Amino acid sequence: MVRFLLSLTILAVLGCVGKQGECPSVYFGGEIANPTSDYVVLYRNDAYIDSAKLDDTNRFAFRLQGLDEGLYHFDHSPELQYVYLQEGDSLLIRLNTVEFDESLVYSGQGSAINNFLVEMFLAFEEEEPLIYEYYALDPEAFGKKIDSLRSIKINHLEELVADNQLSEKMQSMAKASIDYNTYIYKEKYPFYHKKKTGEETIHELADSFYDYRKTIDLNNRDLTYFRPYFDFMKYHFGNLSYMDCMEHCSTEKKPVSSHLHFNKHKLYLVDSLVVEKDLRDILFRNIAMDYLLKEHEANEECQIFIDKFRSLSTNESHKEEINMLYSGIQGLQPNRELPNLVLKNVDDEEVSLREISKGKTTVFYFWAGSQKKHFENVTAHVEKLKKEYPNHTFVGINLRTSFPQWKLLLDEYRLDKKTQFHGEDFKEVQMSMIVDGLNKCVIAKDTLIVDAFANLYYSF
Ligand SMILES: [Zn+2]
Repeated sequence: MVRFLLSLTILAVLGCVGKQGECPSVYFGGEIANPTSDYVVLYRNDAYIDSAKLDDTNRFAFRLQGLDEGLYHFDHSPELQYVYLQEGDSLLIRLNTVEFDESLVYSGQGSAINNFLVEMFLAFEEEEPLIYEYYALDPEAFGKKIDSLRSIKINHLEELVADNQLSEKMQSMAKASIDYNTYIYKEKYPFYHKKKTGEETIHELADSFYDYRKTIDLNNRDLTYFRPYFDFMKYHFGNLSYMDCMEHCSTEKKPVSSHLHFNKHKLYLVDSLVVEKDLRDILFRNIAMDYLLKEHEANEECQIFIDKFRSLSTNESHKEEINMLYSGIQGLQPNRELPNLVLKNVDDEEVSLREISKGKTTVFYFWAGSQKKHFENVTAHVEKLKKEYPNHTFVGINLRTSFPQWKLLLDEYRLDKKTQFHGEDFKEVQMSMIVDGLNKCVIAKDTLIVDAFANLYYSF
């Protein structure tokens, strides 16, 4: 493998000799073990840049010219990961889809920042259970723990900066990956603390608890599509909305408990505090999605909310998406006919949901081959439910797995092929069945919907 990487680098360099001006200014390539798709697709924010087909040894290469320095992401369906690119980079990756993020290693020119970002991603993922324990602590102790975890990472960043030539932009991206992930913990704290301790009201916090808020940037265009930053914004506005409601609308130290009311606060706060256009629009989209998915009702209140969203958003495709989601939700109300959705059976024949459920009480659930852990858990859980509910037919709908791979998994796990179906078009299944969570299920009687927003773990 090492030899292969070296030879590629040399080729990329040699390929340029004597052709000045025509040389690709950025090379990005590598090898993907156990590929789950034939392509690697490169994006800048939400815009498509280029795609590369894997060759018969599972290698791909991009040669790109005139790229802006900054954060990109590549998609090897169904997974995606960030890559930071800059003029002159000659970057190679090695990746195994079985352990996507854990296996990702960059080498070559431009690798330092990219390996750092992956390392931070994994570090935060790893400390999650620990933080969950810390939420029980009082605010001062919690703050100390969180700050010391942050210092370790900041020290690590300082070493990186000392050992490598990183542009100013890279350094602030690396720092943002530490800071915003860390500040998410603090934005969550009041709510998780209440839940963990069983306290009746939100714990009083000293003003200094939120000191970092003085340094955050609510209008950072470079970070708009960076997950930790965007996630921070979501929690931050959730927190602000709650506090705003407590202050202005509540009487007994409790906020008004209506999703519509709460989400109106959120829309209002984003509208008044965020100026950056893209960031505003994706936050509005997120609030609208969140609201519709939690409420999943179709009534006048929803319509009022959607109208408000439409008046604020400037993004036509977001508006279209929210419309589709809403009409999906309307179509999934109890006693409506099951959506007109067609799946494939193991013999590669088309079968509709209505045909599958005809004359039976059916529970449709969802799984993806790439999410092994979830797949195994859900399979075991469904086996249990089958025994408890012998009159129900449990039907698995597979998503985001190739047809041949799906069939292999059916064999490997000895699943009943009569009750397993393959969904070719993820987006179509997701939108018509509103698949918003891993354990979501749809209960139908004959061809009519009983509960389209049920949960495998809570609804039985
Ligand atoms: Zn309120």
